[in-house]
Amino acid sequence: MRLNDYDTTNKMSASVVSSTRITPEDSKTELRHIDLAVDSIDFSYEVGQSIGVLVPGPHEFGVKEYMRLYSIAGSGEDDGINPVISLCVKRCFYIDDFNGERYEGKASNYLCDLKEGDEVTLVGPYNLAFTLPKEKDANLLMIGLGTGIAPFRAFIKHIYNELGGWEGDVRLYHGAMRGIELAYMNDQNADLEYYYDQETFKAFQALSPRAHFDVPVDLEGAIAQNADEVWTMLQDPKTYVYVAGLKQIRELLDGALVKIVGSPEAYEQQRAKMIDEGRWAELIY
Ligand code: FAD
Repeated sequence: MRLNDYDTTNKMSASVVSSTRITPEDSKTELRHIDLAVDSIDFSYEVGQSIGVLVPGPHEFGVKEYMRLYSIAGSGEDDGINPVISLCVKRCFYIDDFNGERYEGKASNYLCDLKEGDEVTLVGPYNLAFTLPKEKDANLLMIGLGTGIAPFRAFIKHIYNELGGWEGDVRLYHGAMRGIELAYMNDQNADLEYYYDQETFKAFQALSPRAHFDVPVDLEGAIAQNADEVWTMLQDPKTYVYVAGLKQIRELLDGALVKIVGSPEAYEQQRAKMIDEGRWAELIY
């Protein structure tokens, strides 16, 4: 679905409760954890949904509003009145193909520049890409690179804090170019560590072997180290796979899983079967 096709009539205002940088100041990558108090007591969302952020104009070419989607990374602590949602936002830039100049991404810079108390307009929530199986003994295999961790943070918090635990195996493969840029698992913020003592939860990290040279994150290596477990999980009809992140994740994951399943054909067959059975969901942007 294209962004223009989303219904943006249901506007809500929200105020910034906090905005915290969760990557070190000296890292090239700025990720921020932003808590927003939604000014609507009726607001609710489901794990896996995204929220639309409207960047106030006027913009070039007479564009009135500029909309971008962000995965809801969980609920923040509320005041008992207004629900609080968390976002994990990366400050983005892009290079113009025509003149080679570097420009700031509008929505991510707008969000990352917001200060406590600032107002923002939200729309949604949208998409139900990731639904949790009802059976608590289902296995969950989550793969998210970069900001793709956002829906999984919401998942993990929901499973262990709100549902009171999970019986099946919960495996998270997350990654970043450098360890210091691993969202929710670095010196700035190690939220995910709280779940390490959960018997059914394990997280594996994929990093770039040569970040200076922009060598991609070694997702294949991280998955290969646990090849037997991943293979067993993929064959188990109780396993659900969730994939989230920028589109590069597709190629990295395909490369890793083709090796485990045996051939591109067998992997595609397995993936198609799991999609058919509602056991494979992707949120790729
Ligand atoms: P744009 O001008 O739109 O893009 C600038 C450049 O940044 C482009 O080259 C683009 O490819 C690249 N880019 C976009 N997103 C990212 C990213 N996350 N990491 C690295 N490079 C990127 N973004 C988040 O930061 N956190 C989220 O949780 C998140 N969830 C999303 C969920 C969905 C369903 C979708 C469709 C997108 C999601 N995005 C998320 C991306 C977000 O919607 C914006 O595209 C992004 O913030 C860039 O918008 P912009 O206006 O700043 O820059």
